[in-house]
Amino acid sequence: MSEPEKLRVCALYPELMNIYADRGNLLMLRRRCQWRGIAFELTSAGIGEDIDPDGADIFYMGGGQDRDQELCAADLVEHKRESLRAAAARGAIVLGVCGGYQLLGHDYQLGARALPGVGLLDVRTVRSDGPRLTGNVAIEVDLPGAHARVLAGFENHGGRTHLGPQASPLGRVLRGHGNNGSDGYEGARQGSVIGTYLHGPLLPKNAWFADWLISSALGGAALEPLDDELEELAHATARAAAGL
Ligand code: GLN
Repeated sequence: MSEPEKLRVCALYPELMNIYADRGNLLMLRRRCQWRGIAFELTSAGIGEDIDPDGADIFYMGGGQDRDQELCAADLVEHKRESLRAAAARGAIVLGVCGGYQLLGHDYQLGARALPGVGLLDVRTVRSDGPRLTGNVAIEVDLPGAHARVLAGFENHGGRTHLGPQASPLGRVLRGHGNNGSDGYEGARQGSVIGTYLHGPLLPKNAWFADWLISSALGGAALEPLDDELEELAHATARAAAGL
């Protein structure tokens, strides 16, 4: 089986948007590439930095507190939005987790203010006065080549996200709250852009999804199987924590 040579990942705001160790997702991608002999290149873009739309196969943004999101929202619009749109238009994966997911939508309404989003996902998020949606969560997803697979993780968000007609839910909630605690869906997907509330970090608890992202980002490349005994255990433990 011929393996692709290199995966290029760009982490957006790796310092500000990294709660619940969301950075672990990058480590997971790195390891699973390296174990297969696929080179891994990680770049990052913080406040004030522009990005090259052709410079990565995966653009990634983790979760963050409202105040950190506020800093990033203004910067995204000024320095990164057009490039991210161009990247998504050529099929690059754009993955946002929790606060990162919210900022991939149209906006995040915080009381009287609305933080602008990138608009790559047809979703809107509203900060609620109600309880935070917190706890272990499991969802069932259908993705090309990955039918009825489970993602398990942890959610903690004050925002409620609602999908517009252009976005599909990433999955159906099996356990937990999901996008808004009421419609039974979690996350969103629109072309190669994906958002989810699942921390964990997400990928170490769902190795199959890390591989799905790697393969998709590399144009549907076939990946060599790995010895996933520990990864399967991490996944089973996360599912069990969610009561599945
Ligand atoms: N600050 C956002 C919210 O509370 C996102 C939180 C997060 O990334 N965990 O909804």
